Amino acid sequence: MAMKIRTFTVGMFQVNTYLLTDEATGQSAILDTGEDDELLERLARFEASEGSLDVRMILLTHTHIDHAGALSLLQERFDVPTYCPAADRPLYETLPMQGTMFGMPHLDRPKGRVDHWIEDGAEIQLGETTLRFLSTPGHTPGQGCYYTDEDILVGDTLFQGSIGRTDFPLSDPKLAVESLRRLLALPGHLRVHSGHGPVTTLDRELRTNPFLAYLRRERGIDGPPGIRWAPGT
Ligand SMILES: [Zn+2]
Repeated sequence: MAMKIRTFTVGMFQVNTYLLTDEATGQSAILDTGEDDELLERLARFEASEGSLDVRMILLTHTHIDHAGALSLLQERFDVPTYCPAADRPLYETLPMQGTMFGMPHLDRPKGRVDHWIEDGAEIQLGETTLRFLSTPGHTPGQGCYYTDEDILVGDTLFQGSIGRTDFPLSDPKLAVESLRRLLALPGHLRVHSGHGPVTTLDRELRTNPFLAYLRRERGIDGPPGIRWAPGT
């Protein structure tokens, strides 16, 4: 049995949030939240047409406002264990002010609750599906990915044809260089579900993404010359 992935693109940042369902048991996880109540409305409509959800957990890829800003709203409806990358804790603490920091004070709200601060290599059981956690810091101190044998949810680590910004206050391009190296060492067939934009695969990005030219050179893979965006690339 597999894990079903449904995508809800929400809010002014058009962030991809995900409903992950273990098909063997019907248990679900919500991954990332959007910055307002749109995901809650979308899930309510989904339940009205498809039946009620058995949500067992909330997973966060990182704690920028568009990915985690609505956590407290979501937890009012789904009071379930919530997992967050441990190294993102300093950024999580700023969540109640991130609206103001990004020039949108109306989005400020109390941060939600994190129950499990997770580290690289953590395994999370969703029904019969095991989700593994890969820490890929750079975009944020804790930015991370959750993956199975078929799919990987990468937050803002990697996009189709691009990567997450590394010029935010807590970003670190040097860490991103190494994180992408580790991410692209995973099996190439993995379907990549990003925090923004369309689905791709690791192999397709390794061959074509202009920000990954340094990995192509290291590994002797033909492809476009690409962009030098940090030392070592
Ligand atoms: Zn982000």
